[in-house]
Amino acid sequence: MNKKRVTLLVPAYNEEEVLPLFYNELTKVINPLEEYYEWEILFINDGSSDHTLDIIQELRYKDSRVNYIDMSRNYGKEIGMLAGFDHATGDCVITLDADLQEPPEIIPLMLNKWHEGYDDVYGRRCERRQSVLKKASSRLYHRMLAGMSTDIDLSANSGDFRLLDRKCVDAIRALRETQRYTKGMYEWIGFRKAPIDYDIHKRAAGQSKWSVPALMRLAVDGITSHSVLPLRLASYMGLTVSVAAFAYLAFVLVKAILWGDPVSGYPTIVSLILFLGGFILLALGIIGEYLGRIFLETKQRPPYFVNSINGKNHSATDHKSTTISL
Ligand code: UDP
Ligand code: MG
Repeated sequence: MNKKRVTLLVPAYNEEEVLPLFYNELTKVINPLEEYYEWEILFINDGSSDHTLDIIQELRYKDSRVNYIDMSRNYGKEIGMLAGFDHATGDCVITLDADLQEPPEIIPLMLNKWHEGYDDVYGRRCERRQSVLKKASSRLYHRMLAGMSTDIDLSANSGDFRLLDRKCVDAIRALRETQRYTKGMYEWIGFRKAPIDYDIHKRAAGQSKWSVPALMRLAVDGITSHSVLPLRLASYMGLTVSVAAFAYLAFVLVKAILWGDPVSGYPTIVSLILFLGGFILLALGIIGEYLGRIFLETKQRPPYFVNSINGKNHSATDHKSTTISL
């Protein structure tokens, strides 16, 4: 029988505490399936400052299924995953976090769905053991994003835990933008999708790498990379304010002509100036968000550089991101 090759893509940034545990749990699931699948466990060391790389090297030393990419610095999970997609060799790729929040036991279920003919099998979180505030803000954000963009339909409960067929992997690889919101890309590329429900666990060890500013950045990236609605809203607001101002002007003129009006209205002027000033700054800020991203993308820099692959040095010129052939 022709064994299918499956890449397990694991981005890891300062995960020394959880990696050995992760490896144990993962192998418990994949070892029994050894006769049906050829596994590749592809770790992305995203510029960790702890012993993550040493641990990965040790794992590779005792398990030849382990491959790793050592990034030249910390690029963040989104870019790390792109590097993984670029170098994954499997017929399908399953992305999962190193912190065991996503149970490896789901992997066989995902593979079954894949055999049924689905190209993108995504994990759907049933229960999020998170604070009420984080849950509510996440739901609100996703609803807003779904309302804003015409081409994608995002649900708050799906994330990066998913199985992607080679077709999807190549499609994602063709999207070379550096300001990435991969969750939106999975939707944008299309293909046959199927959900699998799972319970999200608490992080097994170590700490979450998402700071509030990093989350905010990702949230803004999500909006700007999939919707131009904020720009349009700015012009609608501008139009509304001008129409309202014009009506008010007419009202003031008529009032002054008919009844005469001693100079007054100082509070009105101050509040109008403040309102308009604030609104103009907001609109400029929105334009700035898009402009900044255009600036970053037009530089056409490769999204990342790799320090080494499986311990072998990797030079910038043999970088895959500059020569993608699909
Ligand atoms: N991660 C990464 N680079 C980063 C931040 C995170 O590769 O700059 C990895 C991290 O090691 C983990 C995954 O992305 O495997 C998810 O991160 P985390 O668990 O901190 O996020 P959360 O689950 O809290 O959203
Ligand atoms: Mg996590």
